[in-house]
Amino acid sequence: MMKTDTRKINFGAGPAMLPPEVLLQASQAVLDYNQSGMSILEIPHRGQLCRDMIDECTALVKELCGIGDDFHVIWQQGGGRQQFCMIPLNFLRPDATAGFLISGHWSKEAMEYAHFYGNVNEVASSEPMKFNCLPAIPVDFSQELAYLHYTTNNTIFGTQWHDIPQSGAVPLIADMSSDILSSERDYSRFSLFYAVAQKNLGAAGNCLVAIRKDFLDRQVSAKLPPSFDFKAQVAERSVLNTANAFAIYVTLLMLKWIKAKGISSINADNKLKSSILYRSIDDSPSFVPYVANKAHRSNMNVCFFPVNPDVEARFNILCKQNNITGIAGHRSAGGYRVSLYNAISIQNVQLLSEIIASI
Ligand code: PMP
Repeated sequence: MMKTDTRKINFGAGPAMLPPEVLLQASQAVLDYNQSGMSILEIPHRGQLCRDMIDECTALVKELCGIGDDFHVIWQQGGGRQQFCMIPLNFLRPDATAGFLISGHWSKEAMEYAHFYGNVNEVASSEPMKFNCLPAIPVDFSQELAYLHYTTNNTIFGTQWHDIPQSGAVPLIADMSSDILSSERDYSRFSLFYAVAQKNLGAAGNCLVAIRKDFLDRQVSAKLPPSFDFKAQVAERSVLNTANAFAIYVTLLMLKWIKAKGISSINADNKLKSSILYRSIDDSPSFVPYVANKAHRSNMNVCFFPVNPDVEARFNILCKQNNITGIAGHRSAGGYRVSLYNAISIQNVQLLSEIIASI
């Protein structure tokens, strides 16, 4: 086991820090999965061990999200971008239009991918404000849309939709990659939601997709290659191709960790962590927050800028001395970005805030 005193405090946006107990159990499973005499890397994906593991993971997601048998849950390997393709392939006719709320890089990329398959409508966008706030949704947007897609948390610029947008009769689809299971949310409001695992749910190489059954019935194309066909993936129960058993297992461990803590306590901790950090930035003469509107600020990714290169140099040195890593802003945004996913402790955030206050 990695010594805790040498372990870095990783505020990276994903792959993100995992709890030590999850890392320990995952490493034990690499040597011997559940006393099966086989490594998790060796178990057959269609065998009972893997089947039971995937079923447990699916049941736990349904329980934690409060969704029942009206949803299918599947596990996919191609990350967020695979879903940017699969969703329009399955639910957007070439002559139909999908709506998008553009609050950052990833929502825009999802729209650009959808445009390969059908028409897209930018219902609202905060791009003119360089994504430093959420866009205002027009009350009278078209109800003729095949679906409305948005990104619940803007990983790169640090905004978050704390309330679920009203979409009227239009099916609502959400990319929840950077804030799934970080707070209480009515997941039943969505026709489809998805989340890559490498932030709040474990390791890269696994993506949760939950699809309402009556929405899947509306699938528009009957002629899709099985790998990109949600119905085929559902029918094969996530093992259409060789499943990434290890990544799914890490998600299972994370889900158990989340369940043991409880979503309401995770939510309270996340709010506390972000308030500690924002307060130190707001109070500091040396840093400016990227998102001024407090109601739009993300509890998951906090973005800020140093006021001059001297501050930047001193901050970088202090972070290095304190074993802190992963705080550089995204290459398209610059500055700093601190990610406060579920596994980041309050103590880690307090340490960073004290460093900010000391500059
Ligand atoms: N959506 C969001 C909200 C993200 O933060 C990211 C980046 N991890 C993606 C999608 C893209 O995910 P991937 O790199 O797995 O394609």
